[in-house]
Amino acid sequence: MIPISEAIKIIERESFVLPPETIDLEDSIGRVLAENIKADMDLPPFDRSQMDGFAVRSDDTKNAPVNLRIIGESVAGKGFDQKMKSGEAVRIMTGARVPDGADTVQKVEVTTEKDGFVEILETAKPAQNINKFASEIKIGTKVFAKGEIINEQMIAAFASFGYAKLKVFQKPQVSIFSTGSEIVEIGETPQKDQIRNSNSMMLKILAERAGANAEILPQVHDDFKTLKTAIAKAVGIKAKGKRQKAKSDEKQSQIKNRKSQILIITGGVSVGDYDFTKPVLRELGAEIFFEKVSLKPGKPAVFARLNDVLIFGLPGNPVSVAVTFYLFARYAIWRAQAAKNCELKRGFAVCSDKIKGAKERDCYLPVSLSTNKKGELIIESLRFSGSSNFIAFSRADALVFIPQGKNLEKDDVAEILFLLN
Ligand code: AMP
Ligand code: MG
Repeated sequence: MIPISEAIKIIERESFVLPPETIDLEDSIGRVLAENIKADMDLPPFDRSQMDGFAVRSDDTKNAPVNLRIIGESVAGKGFDQKMKSGEAVRIMTGARVPDGADTVQKVEVTTEKDGFVEILETAKPAQNINKFASEIKIGTKVFAKGEIINEQMIAAFASFGYAKLKVFQKPQVSIFSTGSEIVEIGETPQKDQIRNSNSMMLKILAERAGANAEILPQVHDDFKTLKTAIAKAVGIKAKGKRQKAKSDEKQSQIKNRKSQILIITGGVSVGDYDFTKPVLRELGAEIFFEKVSLKPGKPAVFARLNDVLIFGLPGNPVSVAVTFYLFARYAIWRAQAAKNCELKRGFAVCSDKIKGAKERDCYLPVSLSTNKKGELIIESLRFSGSSNFIAFSRADALVFIPQGKNLEKDDVAEILFLLN
């Protein structure tokens, strides 16, 4: 059994980084920058008025009210090019250039205009209502760095600096399938002893949220040979040896060999008589990097490589799937895109209640978060009854870390991983 930190180090060591590609800005949300982004101009590019009003000299308004002669106007896109002198005013619009000679703008609401003159009713302080030249950013400044994940708030900056196209790292291709003879598809009605497949869709969405192209492959029954064929096909190799045609094999024979860069399998990794994922990986000659992690939930998670495909075998319980995905598979997906931060964002929060840990393993348990009037982030337990409880998990905002052998008590400050992007 290896510690979680060791497992993550192994994933970092064994995972790959894809080459860059160029895409349109409008398709860039959630992608990882493969270039540094620089300001190609000063912003604002000139002293810019924040108000509709009059550009004036602050000295002239000291003894307001005062009458100044209007000598012209400065509008957005066409400034006033002469120098303004004492005793003069220039009508100015929001976004327009403040003319030479003026050092302040008085808003139109505190002025009255008559016969080519404006009465400035209140004193204007120097630089008021002006965005100074280059006060937001100077030309050549690095705005965003290679490896940053692009979000909505960044788009205006890209647009402003002319990045209609962006260099980003390619998306990894992820294939997903579930194992389990009890599993039926979402659209089917479970018969006696059956449940629906909740893992595959959850993983597809999680993988896509981490920037991957994800596809769900047909699920596989708990049958050694069928699983062997399914894994072999998913990684693009031939399964050697004569195989008997099993019941669920029909589905498998319909799918062609395909190859993603990452394969995620759920179920069949524990020690039950029908848990075949690890034996099949061995039989196919996969390199197995780890197969037991000091983690609750998720101890039997396996990480391997076969024919250049990284394989994550996650335990079947939906909450274990989510936790091990967030800690391990998600890391490899972001790493493939050369993201600077491949792990979930860490933070600290205060426990509102006792939460039990585990004797022999570190825990990452799903919790919800709230805030209190003291400005603290509060951990609310999800009355988490076990790793099959995806109903409770559906309210999770974070995973709380409980070190091996410890419990969390009310008012303890605990480390959390945010699930919210
Ligand atoms: P396993 O890891 O195969 O022993 O499965 C552990 C538990 O997770 C069992 O109760 C399974 O029925 C359940 N399980 C496995 N695969 C899925 C799935 N795709 N969707 C929902 N539950 C699953
Ligand atoms: Mg199973």
